[in-house]
Amino acid sequence: MYCSNCGSMMDERQQFCPFCKAPNPALLQKPQFHGQVPPPPYFYNNMSHYYFDPANQPPEIALVVISAIIPLVGLIIGCICLCNNEKRAGRAYLIAAGVRFFVTLLLVLVFTFVPLIFAAFM
Ligand SMILES: [Zn+2]
Repeated sequence: MYCSNCGSMMDERQQFCPFCKAPNPALLQKPQFHGQVPPPPYFYNNMSHYYFDPANQPPEIALVVISAIIPLVGLIIGCICLCNNEKRAGRAYLIAAGVRFFVTLLLVLVFTFVPLIFAAFM
């Protein structure tokens, strides 16, 4: 038979085309594949340095978003206090918001770069 992807001659019992690694469509229809096509090998070779488990990402993103909103709330309360001539309370809120913003920025940098550094050396 001929490969449906590149047209090369291939054995119909082979799972993949020996030239372009396209899956054999005749074998794909058999139930042991469960409709899933394994990605071609170059995908793993190119992505191994950049690939992170997506399941680990969402909780961290949620934490970062929440901690990014909290300094904003402090900033808003601080501005409201300053507008009401409550200068001491307003300044305290603004300083707290600034400190927390800085801490959040540091956390975001750590969460962003530490996995990248680990991925680069492993
Ligand atoms: Zn082929």
